[in-house]
Amino acid sequence: MSSGLPDFEVDEQVLGKQLFDCITDLFPICRSITGDGVRETLARLARVVPLTTHEVPSGTPVFDWTVPDEWNIRDAYVKNARGERVIDFRRSNLHVVNYSVPFRGRMSLEELRPHLFTLPEQPDRVPYRTSYYQRNWGFCLSQNQLDALAEGEYEVCIDSSLQPGCLTYGELTIPGGSTEEVLVSAHICHPSLANDNLSGAVIAAHAARRLQSLSLRLSYRFLFIPATIGSIAWLSANEARVPGIRYGLVLACLGDPGPLTYKRSRRSDAKIDQAAIHVLQQLGEHEVLEFSPYGYDERQFCSPGFDLPVGRLSRTPHGRFPEYHTSADNLEFIQPAQLAKSLSACLEIFEVIEKDRICLNRKPNCEPQLSKYGLYDPIGGVAESPEFRMAILWVLNLSDGRHSLLDIAERSGLRFRQIALAADALSEHGLLENVQ
Ligand code: ZN
Repeated sequence: MSSGLPDFEVDEQVLGKQLFDCITDLFPICRSITGDGVRETLARLARVVPLTTHEVPSGTPVFDWTVPDEWNIRDAYVKNARGERVIDFRRSNLHVVNYSVPFRGRMSLEELRPHLFTLPEQPDRVPYRTSYYQRNWGFCLSQNQLDALAEGEYEVCIDSSLQPGCLTYGELTIPGGSTEEVLVSAHICHPSLANDNLSGAVIAAHAARRLQSLSLRLSYRFLFIPATIGSIAWLSANEARVPGIRYGLVLACLGDPGPLTYKRSRRSDAKIDQAAIHVLQQLGEHEVLEFSPYGYDERQFCSPGFDLPVGRLSRTPHGRFPEYHTSADNLEFIQPAQLAKSLSACLEIFEVIEKDRICLNRKPNCEPQLSKYGLYDPIGGVAESPEFRMAILWVLNLSDGRHSLLDIAERSGLRFRQIALAADALSEHGLLENVQ
């Protein structure tokens, strides 16, 4: 990918459309925690960035869990006495409870009711429901749709299969100069929901594509996994890799109109926490959440046996927008500009962890005469920006071998990118050396 922009910066106009188009392409697929919908999703994401697909057989023990049978669905409907499909999977895959066992039969509305799920407080929306670990079947529909159903006999069909197969997930590694790893994960197990699921996965894929074009210090590992069971299966198979993970981000719900939100890792003060919070502060309105053992796959990565430095980047957190887990989490709910800004923030966090280091001022006795080096020239050159001049002074002052560039960015209130540029310029002139 060549955007013409340096390093970690992106053209948000171009990227916003690309991200939105990618989500539009993936939106109709009926995904679940296993099955062909996940495979198709990974195959399409592999057009953005090359992924390796892994298949974990049903029945595989993964810590306290077992990989479930594989679920696939071809069709599902409820027909009225006139043979009309009054609930139709073909119109929206949310209409069937995800992981419904196969079923065919005729029954009255009263007999059908225990299998019907609505949102009475949002009567025109269809809820998203799952039944992964309890064998059951059901349909989701709007309350208005239910209210319109007449008494009488209905024909019910769920043409699904639930049998031994595999759990599928995607993985991509981007090697850097160091074996220290950055783990990035996104869930890919929700059917036609745009913000919760597709925004994170598509932003992760595009972030990976950008990183692939750069020369990197750290190594990156991207996971595209079904929530919960996917991260548990990955951790179970990769315990030996875990000590190499030095930073991590779970990406979820990144396309809605809300401000960026960062949820701290369980450690609370890991480098990733410091980097992400600095970037969000510099970008403007944002929210920082403390860690809690709830949410997305940070629950598994931050379980006490692993306690990985993994935070979560979102916009409005799950459960706090009324569209969450309903048919209103659709393509109209997400915005190209919000997607692009989320990707941009994500890359800026990576930029911080890539370039952060501790330096030492080689002329610490009073200020060096910066004009001698072209670093304090009020006319022309790099020194013309007042922020850059301040960044030079801050880097010189705090580079005592104890403060990292990120510490200096925080203390000065300047953007890390500016501090890193100043450090590069000072190093070029022999005024600064890297110590760590
Ligand atoms: Zn969800």
